[in-house]
Amino acid sequence: MSDKPLVLVINAGSSSLKYQLLEPDSGTVTADGLVERIGEPTSVITHEQGGADTVEELHLPDHRAAIDKMLELFAAKGTDLAHANLCAVGHRVVHGGRSLYEPTLIDSHVIDEVERVSPLAPLHNPPNLVGIEAAQAALPDVPGVAVFDTGFFHDLPDAAALYAIDRSVSEEYALRRYGFHGTSHEYVSHRAAEFLGRDYDKTNQIVAHLGNGASMSAIKQGRPVDTSMGLTPLEGLVMGTRCGDIDPGLLLHLHRVVGLSVDDIDQLLNKRSGLKGLCGENDFRSVTEMIEGGDADAKTAYDIYIHRLRRYFGAYLVELGHTDVISFTAGVGENAVGVRADSLAGLEGFGIAIDPERNAVRSREPRVISTDDSTTTVLVVPTNEELEIARQAKAVVGG
Ligand code: ADP
Repeated sequence: MSDKPLVLVINAGSSSLKYQLLEPDSGTVTADGLVERIGEPTSVITHEQGGADTVEELHLPDHRAAIDKMLELFAAKGTDLAHANLCAVGHRVVHGGRSLYEPTLIDSHVIDEVERVSPLAPLHNPPNLVGIEAAQAALPDVPGVAVFDTGFFHDLPDAAALYAIDRSVSEEYALRRYGFHGTSHEYVSHRAAEFLGRDYDKTNQIVAHLGNGASMSAIKQGRPVDTSMGLTPLEGLVMGTRCGDIDPGLLLHLHRVVGLSVDDIDQLLNKRSGLKGLCGENDFRSVTEMIEGGDADAKTAYDIYIHRLRRYFGAYLVELGHTDVISFTAGVGENAVGVRADSLAGLEGFGIAIDPERNAVRSREPRVISTDDSTTTVLVVPTNEELEIARQAKAVVGG
């Protein structure tokens, strides 16, 4: 194994744990894996190392058991993580509230603060903390670093960040637009500038992160000035299972007239909305197959998805005045040729023109998909949140 410093990146969800061991300087990945269905009778761990996949089904009662199993699989492949050249464990933490936004060395104060702001991200922060505590217990000598999904958007201008509600309420409860997927927006916008040989601080950019969750950001001369997700990851674009923007009056109506409880509404908007709510499928490949098979609901779901994307492109183009770069990233953004073409169709008057042949190219590398005449350069830039977290974690520990 290389003697360059390594970072173990951990992304703990409520019943899952994603991990990757990599070298932050070169980006070389030694291993990665996914544990699913933690706490259920049968959990599944998929570990990839040395070009081979190991898949095991077993009962993993909690995240600590999942991390112990991960260490065991690393050891079986000849990597003893407790004695590897590990400079940090980098944790994705979804919400840092107002006080935590820089990548931060984890101590008891950070843990308390992440816990304190958990009501802002009740589905994410508690499992993130469980992951932190499990990693600390398993690897007590390795410093942990928290990298916040909200961090990149910490300095959004007030005009974009504040909700137009009674300020005494919003200030008392820290209600504002925080934004999420920040690690991806940060990585992709820097990678785009680097790929084009442009100065980051002199470039206007729009990044469309279209995965199962989806968000867009506007970056003016290197400063994030707007993003589509808000207090929670529910606001903005149409997503796999989340509704994105809706009239807040709909919530009141669902409660008062339809009789749904707060938990019912939470489930409806987070789990049974978006593409899934509209056509029964949240996976974009399935939606595409349904459209090809003539399914009218899938076509309507697609049209709504594209309509919302175009609305945000329009808003951010006007906010920026001119954008030098538009980048598509994440599962849908990197792969769905039609989404890229349809969401930017007919914008030649705005200086944006997609080249169909370039758009059809498949690759894991950043690439230009606009025409040479397009005054905005449109890119596909594969995201790499793990690498961004690893680099930020290494910078914190001074490795
Ligand atoms: P997340 O990390 O939010 O779970 P991803 O970035 O992995 O999401 O994106 C998942 C989405 O990407 C799914 O909707 C999936 O269908 C879509 N996707 C992946 N590959 C393709 C493809 N070849 N064509 C269209 N969509 C794809």
